Amino acid sequence: MNREGSGVKQKDEKYICGTYKRQDVLFERGEGSVLIDEEGKRYIDFGGGIAVNTLGYADDEWIKAVTDQLMRISHTSNLFYTRPQVELAERLVRRTGMEKVFFSNSGAEANEAAVKCARKYSFDKYGEGRYEIITLENSFHGRTMATITATGQKVFHNYFMPFLDGFKYVKAGDSKALREAVGPKTAAIMAELIQGEGGVEVLDREFVAEIAEICAEKDVLLIVDEVQTGNGRTGSLYCYEQFGLHPDIVTTAKGLAGGLPLGATMFGKKTAEVLSQGTHGSTFGGNPVCCAAAINVLDRINDKLLNSVKEKFVLLKQELADCPSVRSISGMGLMIGIECDDAAGKVELLRKNGLIVLTAKNKLRLLPPLNISDDTFARGLKILKEVL
Ligand SMILES: *Cc1c(COP(=O)(O)O)cnc(C)c1O
Repeated sequence: MNREGSGVKQKDEKYICGTYKRQDVLFERGEGSVLIDEEGKRYIDFGGGIAVNTLGYADDEWIKAVTDQLMRISHTSNLFYTRPQVELAERLVRRTGMEKVFFSNSGAEANEAAVKCARKYSFDKYGEGRYEIITLENSFHGRTMATITATGQKVFHNYFMPFLDGFKYVKAGDSKALREAVGPKTAAIMAELIQGEGGVEVLDREFVAEIAEICAEKDVLLIVDEVQTGNGRTGSLYCYEQFGLHPDIVTTAKGLAGGLPLGATMFGKKTAEVLSQGTHGSTFGGNPVCCAAAINVLDRINDKLLNSVKEKFVLLKQELADCPSVRSISGMGLMIGIECDDAAGKVELLRKNGLIVLTAKNKLRLLPPLNISDDTFARGLKILKEVL
């Protein structure tokens, strides 16, 4: 960092809550899948703003979609109809087979709406007392009170007791424990199909099929958290398609609007009418500018892009196959975990070499823009290979 960068860092430490461990770099702008710091140094971005920058940085079409909307109307509240919101909802419904959408601003909020819907569905149909949500150990569902409760990791539970009542955790892959946990009070099972923050752990297919079977048998709602896996990230529009699932509720956020805050909770046949007038809401949710951005993102996630996302994972596995320090590679599409020694140290080293990556648990985690060019991807892989 130069003096200007250090000045920003000092002010950050002085004025901003110290909740984040930031990397020692100040980015000024981006071009495609490349980030540029205050000294003009360029970095290939395999972090993608944590799966948010679906189309990279300063994408012409995306900027045009956003600015066109910005110049028309930036916000009206949900007391009125807006065009981008309905057009986005229509696209989501057509492409997923879900029936209705509720818009919010983040992944945690999308999951809050899912939890509320599950409880009301159960209340409407079975009356009081059937409110339990089963989630998986090592999951991550957000930072609000309900979603940290849903998150099956102790580290997120410190300090903030008491939690919401009615959450239970089951070890991923343990069908027997899941069967035992489901009882007369169970309203829903909620899971990520690839545990992102938990270390890019792909759920076992048979276990996922077992979840779906239990849900269908007992009228327990299946909630799939696609906040990170959604919007093309794993090589299909939503990851559940590749598991052959028909969820009752799907949540997403992160990459949906390609860099603006937008969350969506999608409801299937059973749940489409549950959140009725007055039962839920948001001031900013479904903001027209964010929805215009998401329309552009969705329209660009086509088969060609999705195939290239899948191919890049195959290529990466080939390239890193002989790296001495790589112990395993997990994930799907462009959501990739690399198990190696000292992941945190490697992040620093990679950044010095011009490559931005993330971590999840003890792994390196890669979430590059989905439209990263073959050439930029290959250059990033080369840096990765050298360091590993
Ligand atoms: C990031 C994430 C969330 C939380 O999203 P926010 O936008 O940070 O609230 C929830 N679930 C999963 C699977 C995530 O990866």
